Amino acid sequence: MTDTAGPDDVARLLEFLHGRDAPCPLCGYNLRDLTRPECPECHHELLLTVGITRPNFLWFLLAVIPCAFAGIAASLLLIPMTLQTVMGGGLPPPPLFALDALGWLSAAGGLVLVRHRFAFLRQSPKRQRILATAVWAANVLALLAFLGVMASL
Ligand SMILES: [Zn+2]
Repeated sequence: MTDTAGPDDVARLLEFLHGRDAPCPLCGYNLRDLTRPECPECHHELLLTVGITRPNFLWFLLAVIPCAFAGIAASLLLIPMTLQTVMGGGLPPPPLFALDALGWLSAAGGLVLVRHRFAFLRQSPKRQRILATAVWAANVLALLAFLGVMASL
């Protein structure tokens, strides 16, 4: 099995456009009765393929959002930690370093999710929901730990 269409496949895929309106994805030119995989208007080569119409990104986005916010929070937390150190207030307490590291770890997890987004999207909706819920649970626990540490300082 090949990943791309061969010449016979291209001919069969072009038959789909015989007598059927379809816009060029780049310029919008009507590709009705197209005879070769190139737009007659903008002259871009066309990829004839089978695709999905609407991938569902809901659970993926819900999984990435807390990671992004944790990364932003970890970055912002570095400002007072650095200022305290530079202004002679000494090093911040170790739990603050640990929590900042958790924020960076979550951000790194978010980057891994983005990098492997298609693997995530191939999962069943139920599994995507479970993964997104697990990411949220981990981030909420880290936030509660952060608030607990901040209250104890
Ligand atoms: Zn075109």
